[in-house]
Amino acid sequence: MAVRPIVRLGNPALRAPAEPVPAARLASAELRELVDDLVESMRAAGGVGLAAPQVGVGLQLFVYEATDAEDPDSGIPLRVVVNPMLEPHPGELVYDWEGCLSIPDLRGLVPRPPEVRVRGLDAAGAPLDYVARGFEARIVQHEFDHLNGVVFLDRMRDLHSLSFYAEWERFMTDTGRPPGSGRPE
Ligand SMILES: [Zn+2]
Repeated sequence: MAVRPIVRLGNPALRAPAEPVPAARLASAELRELVDDLVESMRAAGGVGLAAPQVGVGLQLFVYEATDAEDPDSGIPLRVVVNPMLEPHPGELVYDWEGCLSIPDLRGLVPRPPEVRVRGLDAAGAPLDYVARGFEARIVQHEFDHLNGVVFLDRMRDLHSLSFYAEWERFMTDTGRPPGSGRPE
């Protein structure tokens, strides 16, 4: 396992649509190594999610997890999602803070559907089909966007809430921010 460098905004890898992981590469040692590296890189950077394009690999694959302290609910166990399809459930958009490991030090309010159905594969090629809600739904949508060359800044309705982390902590804590949100992804 190795920590890989995370590419930052301006690197074309972050704006290119990712390719599906071919069936022949599922369950391969190479894919397992990529997944392990993504997990290690996410943890080393203190993030709650990381998509393959963020380490310069143009494949449809992301990982995420959140501890009790990071998740307003009860923590999110590690998930590996390959070749995902998302289907938002009907519901009013919810605004919450997001950050991104590829856009270091910035936070902004992003509207997202509160609930999404996630279909895809795990790293071994077994099918996934589940519903993500709340903070998990937000993480999944943020990571899914990375597979399409989209970053959270593109999803902001306006940029007035955009803040550096220190200023966000100092000035934005009274704006109804739920505990644990705003972790970079
Ligand atoms: Zn991100």
